[in-house]
Amino acid sequence: MKVPFLELRPAYLELKNEIDAAVAGVLDSGWYIGGPAVDTFEADFAAYCDAKHAIGVANGLDALHLALVAMGVGAGDEVIVPSNTFIATWLACSYRGAVPVSVEPVANTHNLDPEKLEAAITPKTKVIIPVHLYGQPADLEPILAIARKHKIYVLEDAAQAHGARYKGARIGSHADAVAWSFYPGKNLGALGDAGAVTTNNAELADKIKALRNYGSRQKYVHEYQGFNSRLDPIQAAGLAVKLKHLDAWNARRVKVANRYLSEIKNPKITLPFVPNWAEPVWHLFVVQAKERDGLQKFLGDAGISTLIHYPTPPHLQEAYKNTLSGPQHWPIAEHMAKTVLSLPMGPHLNDDEVSYVIQTINKF
Ligand SMILES: *Cc1c(COP(=O)(O)O)cnc(C)c1O
Repeated sequence: MKVPFLELRPAYLELKNEIDAAVAGVLDSGWYIGGPAVDTFEADFAAYCDAKHAIGVANGLDALHLALVAMGVGAGDEVIVPSNTFIATWLACSYRGAVPVSVEPVANTHNLDPEKLEAAITPKTKVIIPVHLYGQPADLEPILAIARKHKIYVLEDAAQAHGARYKGARIGSHADAVAWSFYPGKNLGALGDAGAVTTNNAELADKIKALRNYGSRQKYVHEYQGFNSRLDPIQAAGLAVKLKHLDAWNARRVKVANRYLSEIKNPKITLPFVPNWAEPVWHLFVVQAKERDGLQKFLGDAGISTLIHYPTPPHLQEAYKNTLSGPQHWPIAEHMAKTVLSLPMGPHLNDDEVSYVIQTINKF
């Protein structure tokens, strides 16, 4: 048996008629930038996230970047980021000329450790970016409390957490703003690049709306030195169709995860830990093993595809070489990079495939 890591085509085929009709509708409408398809998806996505505003943008990196611009982050400012995340979280800060300042995760949740946060705050700190890594919410309450005390913004990186809940409430408006990616492989994925920011803060929403469109609210009137980062209406139309199925697809991911959690029994493998206040959406199902490379090869030889998220933490990437002052060694992030392995996960894995993954891992 061959078990792919994730396949994108089945999600399209499941909804082919609806998606094709939605895309054809945009082509037929004559609106190729903005317009009703974008307005509709923004309204639907805001409602889904229990947020007052959703602003569609070109991709997840731009969602982070434009939110940082709206929060007034500029050259020399500091932004607190997890030491273990996809590099986009860091790049969004660097894009502003700001310095990404690392905080290590809690070892068993892989999310930013609120207890280590305060020590990283300086007078230059403008924003904290917790990432809901692998689809599991970070511990937002203590993070928000510390941020309020120091009067700094919190921007959630929710690129992996569409539909996840923190203490019962959907991710989407806990912090000042929330950045989303609809990269095709995410839980809610477009047919290309797409992203959004959600927020309850009308002022930030208004500013991001202008920033994505050349800093303009009114044609040829430019209040800010803005950008071109608009959500494509064809993507918006496809996303609106898929959004209606997101909960069902996440439920299938939860089913797979629950089987992995209860049936994988191998002392060489550490399963993910879920705090009782977290309802993850399992963007990734990440186990840890000391013999990670051997495990990956063993599974690969058995036809099971796995990936490593992420093999190199941002601070060890060439892109950040010689750019960081202060500590440059983040042992928890570095340990994770050597031990994490993402198992096949997605709404279209069938029971036999899941059973085969479990049986094979238990033989390692
Ligand atoms: C995917 C991702 C992003 C970036 O999204 P793009 O749409 O690819 O720009 C940012 N942060 C995290 C944690 C991600 O997983």
